[in-house]
Amino acid sequence: MPEARFKENKSNMNILDNIRIVLVEPIFGGNIGSVCRVMNNNGITDLAIVKPRPETDWEDARKLSCSAKAQLEARKEFATLAEAVADCTVVAGTSARTGFYRDTSHSPREFAPVALESAKGHKIALVFGRENKGLSNEELARCTHIIQIPSSELYTSLNLSHAVMVCCYEIFVASGTFQPSEEKAEEANSELRERMFDVWREMMLKTEFTHEQKLEHMMMGLRRIFSRGKLTVPDVKILMGLAKQSIWVSDQWKKVNQ
Ligand code: SAH
Repeated sequence: MPEARFKENKSNMNILDNIRIVLVEPIFGGNIGSVCRVMNNNGITDLAIVKPRPETDWEDARKLSCSAKAQLEARKEFATLAEAVADCTVVAGTSARTGFYRDTSHSPREFAPVALESAKGHKIALVFGRENKGLSNEELARCTHIIQIPSSELYTSLNLSHAVMVCCYEIFVASGTFQPSEEKAEEANSELRERMFDVWREMMLKTEFTHEQKLEHMMMGLRRIFSRGKLTVPDVKILMGLAKQSIWVSDQWKKVNQ
């Protein structure tokens, strides 16, 4: 079950509960829906919208939120940025532009541990701007940190929901909530590997893949290939079985063609 990949420790979840995503006057309902989805992908659930536009296409928002519709419904709405972040210690503004103190900006990866440290005991906010003109200088001035997502000079401005994704993802990964999958099979030891190489040596001769004079050279090549990654016991058993079967087929063929 996928749940097995998440740490039982609930404290990481509580830390993520303290992280608020603030969207300032978003234009497209679809982006709001996509933001709900990426927030939930990363275990973040506190969404605030500052000055939602009366013309917002909420149907589009619902469509793009997919299975995060409850997240969309749970959003809080505020008349000003000041109110949306009033209870937050760290307030991080995000911006693709340069100038106005943005040269002191942090990448989302650098910012993630700062966010998690503060979120242990306090609410913190990540603030995102309008799709057409970002955050104003006054709004950025209210922020304690500025985050700039590294991007190509070909196009430095990300789609709003993509920008939220990158920031939330870095925090989620840094929180250690997710357990990356691990190889569970036992690693093959030298004795087992050598048994496999013996069978391959015999197979390469019997199938006339190579001859005695070139055999050790070939074996060295094979050793190099099989040393490039970790060989597990089941891997070695497959490789040994393949060579044994080739020997058997080669013996049969020789009997028939004698
Ligand atoms: N034309 C606007 C871009 C707005 S994109 C501008 O020049 O500011 C919408 C929002 O996505 C931005 O306000 C910011 O919050 C976020 N965003 C987009 N690209 C970003 C980047 N490279 N770094 C940080 N935030 C970014």
